Amino acid sequence: MSSREAVSRQAFDDYFIPMFAPAPFIPVRGEGSRVWDQAGRDYIDFAGGIAVNALGHAHPELCRTLQQQAGQLWHLGNGYTNEPVLRLARQLVEATFADKVFFCNSGAEANEAALKLARKYAHDKAGAGKCEIVAFSNAFHGRTLFTVSAGGQPKYAQDFAPLPAGIFHVPYNDLEAARAVIGPRTCAVIVEPIQGEGGVVPADLAFLRGLRELCDAQDALLIFDEVQTGVGRTGALYAYMEYGVTPDLLTSAKALGGGFPIGALLATNRHATALSVGSHGTTYGGNPLASAVADTCLSIINTPDVLAGVRERHEWFLQGLAQINAQYSLFSEIRGRGLLIGCALAPAYAGKAKTLTNYAAEVGLLALIAGPDVVRFAPSLIIPQADVEAGLERFALAVARLVQG
Ligand code: PLP
Repeated sequence: MSSREAVSRQAFDDYFIPMFAPAPFIPVRGEGSRVWDQAGRDYIDFAGGIAVNALGHAHPELCRTLQQQAGQLWHLGNGYTNEPVLRLARQLVEATFADKVFFCNSGAEANEAALKLARKYAHDKAGAGKCEIVAFSNAFHGRTLFTVSAGGQPKYAQDFAPLPAGIFHVPYNDLEAARAVIGPRTCAVIVEPIQGEGGVVPADLAFLRGLRELCDAQDALLIFDEVQTGVGRTGALYAYMEYGVTPDLLTSAKALGGGFPIGALLATNRHATALSVGSHGTTYGGNPLASAVADTCLSIINTPDVLAGVRERHEWFLQGLAQINAQYSLFSEIRGRGLLIGCALAPAYAGKAKTLTNYAAEVGLLALIAGPDVVRFAPSLIIPQADVEAGLERFALAVARLVQG
């Protein structure tokens, strides 16, 4: 029996290694794009569990899939395969450039696998000297030692030194800077099509095209980290499809499971065989529970209606935010694609993004930040129009409070 006594937010401070600072309230239930806390207060969810709850909370088809699978088979380990993971793999391969997939449990693990695959491919083909990885300032790729090292935010890595060597960072969207470091020793370039945590900054098309050419010229693998942009978030199934630039490896997580943890690495036949039996692995990756949910989630999202709905919702947000900004002049730019939207604070409000999302929570709106100067929205891809409108009304209250001091 698990302990069922009442708990309060204080228990977090009492029992947790203090690496998070959760809100003072505790959400206990969610439905669609609404969440309720212990006191019964409701919140409109523009955060989507950090771009994860792509179908909102308690989506009936995801619940049905999870319950069915829970009564059937949870876990066996990778000494056996299972039906849900085979279906999910087939669906991902049929929907994308990929021929092969590897499943894990998070975005960081998917990127870890991608970087290891790229090193191994180059090692086997060209020897140990071809080991360098090019990445970008302000990038975010996860929290394992390899992925914080590839990430472009030194504060997440520097105190954990010594770090994996051979990783070079250049400014994002700066093709000439990338050209200067990508050479014969480069085994991989890892890039987010839109930098999410780094401030919701979309890549320029010429930048991604240029990276593709440089990787081809140097026989380096182009890795798209689509952990945040993938599975419908931008209005395409994956952002690479909109850009028309195809990577060699793609990582996916977050929305793939709609809230159930899963990550995936997608590859072509050409590179996939670099990881042979025993060279990499996972206990839980590809387990039947996560795979069944992801299979259902992906099949719901990968439809013309849902993807067009994301683009339509983008316009609702942009119109509403433009109205708020016309009144308060708080933002210098509103950017992003689909339902990954960043509101960059004007210089007078620099550093106030967290204050604004705290005010938002106080009036019943869950929102994200992307660095100190950007408020980020990553709601359900099927959020109803009434919730968008009501959420923006609440956001306007938080904005007014910030502006009026
Ligand atoms: N890559 C990107 C682009 C992300 O946005 C994130 C998480 O925010 C990650 C990787 C890490 O994913 P996870 O937290 O599931 O390990």
